[in-house]
Amino acid sequence: MTRKPFVVANWKMNGSLKANADWIETALPQMSGTRLHCDVAVCAPSVYLSQLVKGFEHSATLVGAQNCAQYTQGAYTGEVSAGMLADIGCDLVILGHSERRTLFGETDETVAEKVKLAFDNGVMPIVCVGETLQEREAGQTIEVVSRQLRAVLNKVGIMPLVAGAVAYEPVWAIGTGKSASAEDAQAVHQALRAVLAEVDEEASKRTRILYGGSVKAKNAPELFAQPDIDGALVGGASLKAEDFLAICHCA
Ligand code: PEP
Repeated sequence: MTRKPFVVANWKMNGSLKANADWIETALPQMSGTRLHCDVAVCAPSVYLSQLVKGFEHSATLVGAQNCAQYTQGAYTGEVSAGMLADIGCDLVILGHSERRTLFGETDETVAEKVKLAFDNGVMPIVCVGETLQEREAGQTIEVVSRQLRAVLNKVGIMPLVAGAVAYEPVWAIGTGKSASAEDAQAVHQALRAVLAEVDEEASKRTRILYGGSVKAKNAPELFAQPDIDGALVGGASLKAEDFLAICHCA
């Protein structure tokens, strides 16, 4: 089964109208037509999503948010619902990023609830899972990521993940410059695919599992060569269009 590689930029809380316009202008010629052999998405802070939807309207580049509310609508000051993301033409949403789990107290249950709302509203979820350094050193990596993934599968089944993606992001590798080795990452991706296969073997083969954690053009070829690594979720190296494109060209 061949899965088309998928490379996703996560700008986190960075950007400005001017910087984003420059990024789009640099990237657009490369992202149009058949120059890249992967699907590409850019996930930006909510306030800039309309700018990106407009900027990429004539390209195949997908636009994603980095979070959505666990509620449909109502008295939730400061929140943005999945329906609102769909309303402005947003294609995707990153859910369960470790920064959301650790800094904003999101639990497996909240993440699963958000995945359900996103998919119900036609916004494809990229579900992040990953272990902390402490969990890795305690030999709990597979247990932790399997638990995080099962929480979503139990709530919504596998189809939202076939439409979106799973991202394995070891917490200790995010923004630290320390990537998991390609072999270690492959072992976790293989285990995650086995968890997906418990639900539906055929669908598990169609689900893209991305690696995230200090991906750069230098380590991307080795990661992308692994049989169960289907692309990358890229933080720091996505802030400059040239660096992100260099990673996309490795896929
Ligand atoms: C991320 O934020 O999802 C990420 C993987 O960050 P970085 O590439 O900077 O490690």
